[in-house]
Amino acid sequence: MRNNSGNYVNFYKDILMFNLLRIRGDFVHISKKVIFLKEAKIQHIQVTRNIVVHRKTGTGINEGNIVCLNNDLGLIFVDAGRVTQDAKKFRAEMEKKYKKKAEYLILTHNHGDHTFGAEAFKDLPIISSQKAYDDYYELEKEGKLSKEYRQGFINVMKEKAAKGEFELSESWHKDFATNYLAATLYPPTLAISDEMKLGSPEQQILFKVIGGHSDCSAYLYYLPEDILIAGDNFNCDHAQNSGCMLAGMNDKGIAILKLFEDLNPKKVIPGHGPVVEKDYIRTSRVYFSEMFAKLKELKEKGVSLGEASKHPGLPNFFEDKKHRQWDHIMSSWYSQL
Ligand SMILES: [Zn+2]
Repeated sequence: MRNNSGNYVNFYKDILMFNLLRIRGDFVHISKKVIFLKEAKIQHIQVTRNIVVHRKTGTGINEGNIVCLNNDLGLIFVDAGRVTQDAKKFRAEMEKKYKKKAEYLILTHNHGDHTFGAEAFKDLPIISSQKAYDDYYELEKEGKLSKEYRQGFINVMKEKAAKGEFELSESWHKDFATNYLAATLYPPTLAISDEMKLGSPEQQILFKVIGGHSDCSAYLYYLPEDILIAGDNFNCDHAQNSGCMLAGMNDKGIAILKLFEDLNPKKVIPGHGPVVEKDYIRTSRVYFSEMFAKLKELKEKGVSLGEASKHPGLPNFFEDKKHRQWDHIMSSWYSQL
């Protein structure tokens, strides 16, 4: 696979990275993989007068968006990304821009690509769902948040690479491994079991626990400007992403997309990827609904996974039609039907 500047980079399946970021230590899906890699690029997307999104692309690693929301309580940040330095810079720039202090960090869920940058907000209340709060302490109890555990994981990765089982890119060493080991983790300080409203009635933000992508997932809705902050229940621009949403998609995920549509937002800020219009959610939902209907039909007819994943009757949604983790995604969908 070639990018515009002609660089080739060897890497391994993103699903591993996803597991790694969740600190689950699942090595099952390691394989050789070549992926698209550009220079790391940071964009600040001004979504409305009061909302700015920090988006990082091009590292070859799945980067979660960080959102800054200006309301009458001060600045509220949603998710912290994976890299503390990025989050610190973004916070400082937003405090300068709005001439206000940051007051809260709210987490959409407890996955490392959204939480490892939390050190940048360690002086603030950190709000999450009750489940995300419980997960944090469970992982800590299991020792899976310690630096030793992380170092062990990195060592195993390097050993496997040395044996030729897969190749690690320069960005893996420079960006991922370095930041993964360096991160000091901060637990949520306030847990919400169902929903919470923050701010005056004119500037209110709704935080709502919904599950889906992970049991601990929540979304946020900024009522005065009708902006949905979806977390990983909705990701866009699959070429930049690791299939967080795709591989985990199921009937519950489709129902959540319908709920998001019904909220009727003016703009949608996904967990990963660019800010989009509401219609993108509808297109995704229709795609997934048609895909599952077709796959169910094929499975009932006894069609094998190999044949089903190449079946001409499957709907197309993405421009290049196939996600780079297509085989993994298909087997995950097919087995759950
Ligand atoms: Zn994510």
